Amino acid sequence: MTTHQEIDLPAFGKTTVPTGLFIDNQWVSSSDTKTFSTVNPATGEHFLDFAHASTDDVDKAVIAARQAFKTSWGMNIASTDRAGLLFKLADLMERDAAKIGALESIDSGKGVRIARDCDVADSIACMRYYAGLADKLHGQTINHFGKEKFVYTLHQPIGVCGQIIPWNYPLMMWAWKVAPAVAAGCCVVIKPSELTPLSALYLCDLVIEAGFPPGVINVVPGLGATTGDAIARHMDIDKVAFTGSVPTGRRIAIAAAESNLKKVTLELGGKSPMLVFDSADVEEAASWVAMGIWFNSGQDCCASSRVYVQEGVYEKFLEALKAKAEACAIGNPAEEATSFGPLISQAQRDKVLTYIESGRTAGARVVTGGQKWPKSGGGFWVEPTILADVSPDMKAVKEEIFGPVIVAAKFRTEDEALELANNTEYGLAAAVFTNDARQATRVTAALDAGTVWCNQYALLHPGVPFGGFKQSGIGRELGTYGLEAYTQVKAVHQNLTQTMYVYTARSWNT
Ligand code: NAD
Repeated sequence: MTTHQEIDLPAFGKTTVPTGLFIDNQWVSSSDTKTFSTVNPATGEHFLDFAHASTDDVDKAVIAARQAFKTSWGMNIASTDRAGLLFKLADLMERDAAKIGALESIDSGKGVRIARDCDVADSIACMRYYAGLADKLHGQTINHFGKEKFVYTLHQPIGVCGQIIPWNYPLMMWAWKVAPAVAAGCCVVIKPSELTPLSALYLCDLVIEAGFPPGVINVVPGLGATTGDAIARHMDIDKVAFTGSVPTGRRIAIAAAESNLKKVTLELGGKSPMLVFDSADVEEAASWVAMGIWFNSGQDCCASSRVYVQEGVYEKFLEALKAKAEACAIGNPAEEATSFGPLISQAQRDKVLTYIESGRTAGARVVTGGQKWPKSGGGFWVEPTILADVSPDMKAVKEEIFGPVIVAAKFRTEDEALELANNTEYGLAAAVFTNDARQATRVTAALDAGTVWCNQYALLHPGVPFGGFKQSGIGRELGTYGLEAYTQVKAVHQNLTQTMYVYTARSWNT
């Protein structure tokens, strides 16, 4: 197949987009000529065919990445030069922001304004944050040894990193993975989701234009069970970084352990609890919770998917949240006004509807929504939905729905609220809404989650670490922690004497 195709891109007209593999700064077809197709979530129609990276193609990408690591990247380039290339790439993304936003929108179904002003803008911010951090990687000097020796640590890049990302934030996950890895001096082989490979591939031409040496960034689109598994099992990949579901994360960790024990970081799912206390500003709390659950149509790992409200404000809060659900700007993703697009696929839509039905059958009250958006046509919309009066044993309360469905229940005491909130195998995010400062401090400390917001929700920043407690993941992304995740520490001992006159050697030799 050809490595590029022409599409009709809303607001841009006929546009040529890459659909091949990107290895060693070259566009190539797959070695076994296999392809896979994507679907436009807003219409349900076939969208594009992409080259599918085989195990051999993953091998080629790893060889290119290893070669780059040994010759032009890794320890062979000044960190200030790595920073310069990342800044250049960010500038090119900014230049093309409108087009990248349009591509992300048509590929994933998110509203074009949201894609451009949130996803693209946040991805650029992430690239710039790590560009700025690239030359600030420092080790330590350890002066415990008087005149006998000198010890220092080097923070060195891990090497070749495999990266596997999901479909809900295709571009942002690319930035979260590639920027810290490349800033630290690693070379990457990244696999976008088979549902949304377009923006990751579009960026490859910008990688060339920015001047990255061949092999530093390689993109291998393909299915999880083949291309993804080949990355997770590869014997010459030093680390795999993954964002996606818990079952896939578990499979990747097993594959990594069974192959070369490569290092693993996992950003997995969530079922994030919101606690709204009687003292909270109910209207404001409802606004944050609404954004947390209905942004990206609920397809968000830290979606505010469970809300527990103190009994004094329960009904008032539900009324406020219902009004916000019914005010969501549902519509065609190509329109600037749309903030609530379709779900990614028919399978995802059906899964979400099944969860709603299970809640309804188990006795939950459907406050609003609960069905396909009536104007869906062939697209995959589900209405913003509130299931109230839920109990902890319901499937819709225990499992991650990954759609626009929030479950709600009331509580009486702070202890009861914490018990409900922490009663989950997940621990990605949580929030507390209260105007009692002492309560805020107590509750934020007691919530089992990698991120806890107080009187706000869902605002992330490249400089603030993100990751999960419990089964929501291993390791952290973003912030300095995100850079450290792509380095390994080397301790260097230098003997300052001419003898073996040092601690254990002393007793061994006498
Ligand atoms: P998924 O686990 O099905 O797929 C994620 C990626 O893994 C895709 O690229 C897929 O091709 C690949 N994959 C699938 N099977 C694989 C295998 N056996 N070996 C290697 N790779 C494989 O997840 P998804 O459906 O794309 O995304 C939704 C899930 O991701 C949700 O559960 C959500 O909570 C989670 N998520 C988490 C975060 C976070 O930061 N914690 C962010 C976004 C999404």
